[in-house]
Amino acid sequence: SIPLSFFGGIGGASKKGILVKGSNYLEALNNIHTVVFDKTGTLTEGVFKVNEIINEGEFDAEAVLKYAATAESFSDHPIALSIREAYGKDIDSSVIKYHEDITGKGIRVKTESGEILVGNEKLMEAEGVSYRKVEANDTIVHIAVEGKYAGYILISDKIKKDSADTVKALKEAGIKNVVMLTGDNKTTAIKVKEELNLDEVHYELLPHEKVEMLEKIKREKKEKGNIVFVGDGINDAPVLTMADIGVAMGGLGSDAAIEASDIVIMTDEPSKLIEGIKIAAFTRKIVW
Ligand code: ADP
Ligand code: MG
Repeated sequence: SIPLSFFGGIGGASKKGILVKGSNYLEALNNIHTVVFDKTGTLTEGVFKVNEIINEGEFDAEAVLKYAATAESFSDHPIALSIREAYGKDIDSSVIKYHEDITGKGIRVKTESGEILVGNEKLMEAEGVSYRKVEANDTIVHIAVEGKYAGYILISDKIKKDSADTVKALKEAGIKNVVMLTGDNKTTAIKVKEELNLDEVHYELLPHEKVEMLEKIKREKKEKGNIVFVGDGINDAPVLTMADIGVAMGGLGSDAAIEASDIVIMTDEPSKLIEGIKIAAFTRKIVW
């Protein structure tokens, strides 16, 4: 005979690509109040494409792209991958004398011909660069060379094909609050909120601000049920740990995120959370 655990429980979940690190986490899926998603790589593919390069001042578009690709040569952020792919040529990284990842903001490198900054508005502001304020549905990556503004690159990412159905199913399952946190800009964040029919969105967050936001959500909702966080990035580890149930994307996700999580979705599909919730409900029926 086939044991019941074949259909339910942790074994059943793992057959569907959902690794649950303890039966208490499966049980906790029966009582969710709020689900908080990270954006990039969780609700979106995390694979960007360069759409447009806008050069400013003395710089031409080819130069802007080359500076950006050079600065991004040591980064494995999805933004960096898209810029290097758009550039297409080999980058001589021996010109880089110094490189620095500025968390939630971008990249700084120093080359023989000067300092290059690549990142968002926060980076330009922190470095005192007078940049162009842009409103676009895309993610905006600004470039400055030796403190001079060189222009910006518009990049975009696609929403995963099961994200909208996942949000809908969570609400049908009676979950009160479906939230998204992102470091990305306001316009992009609101566009995703509307496309997915999310209840709440918080944007332009630095990693420590994501932690503070989750703390706040936990304080407000704790007695009403569990808080689930679903994320994939290196910076997501502290939030994954803090959530009642931390869910990591196992495919594209970072090792740190997988380590810090309670549940791992091997296929990177947010809809696996719905399957996990169904398995949890079914398992409870068998147990009781
Ligand atoms: P999220 O996963 O929510 O987008 P991140 O912390 O990975 O958050 O990034 C936040 C923001 O910081 C990005 O949207 C981007 O504007 C900027 N950023 C981070 N890393 C880079 C990078 N390597 N190059 C350019 N911009 C970056
Ligand atoms: Mg991320």
